[in-house]
Amino acid sequence: MAANRTFSIIKPDATRRNLTGAVTKMLEDAGLRVVASKRIKMTREQAEGFYAVHKERPFFDDLVAFMTSGPVVVQVLEGEDAVKRNRDIMGATNPENAEEGTIRKTYAESIEANSVHGSDSDENAATEIAFFFKPEEIVG
Ligand code: UDP
Repeated sequence: MAANRTFSIIKPDATRRNLTGAVTKMLEDAGLRVVASKRIKMTREQAEGFYAVHKERPFFDDLVAFMTSGPVVVQVLEGEDAVKRNRDIMGATNPENAEEGTIRKTYAESIEANSVHGSDSDENAATEIAFFFKPEEIVG
């Protein structure tokens, strides 16, 4: 598969513990290149919109509160098979189930405060990138 892109968020539990560099290093070591990056404080509207697919889930309100509780770093990552490559290095949603050597196994605090987000399909990657970045902010 040709080089392509995915969308990543370094979540508030990770920025709070000053792990932006450590998480980014694991992404880079996995063969992904950061082609856009910005540190933001998500608004409630942004978090609700970004996670709209989970609106009916019991954890939705807590998740929105968590994602707006501190700074996040939104990133566009480029690499061969970027979506799968990123999901593999992230590890399972629940860190208790994540494999050794993954970001979530290494750093996540809980199923909610699990340090990183990564798109789960090429289609969602395109939507999520466009949610946070203008095309000119992405420099490959
Ligand atoms: N989440 C949660 N409780 C759950 C499941 C998920 O708080 O029982 C949070 C967690 O932060 C997760 C996010 O909701 O990363 C999105 O869930 P999803 O199932 O899409 O997992 P992911 O794709 O992030 O692994």
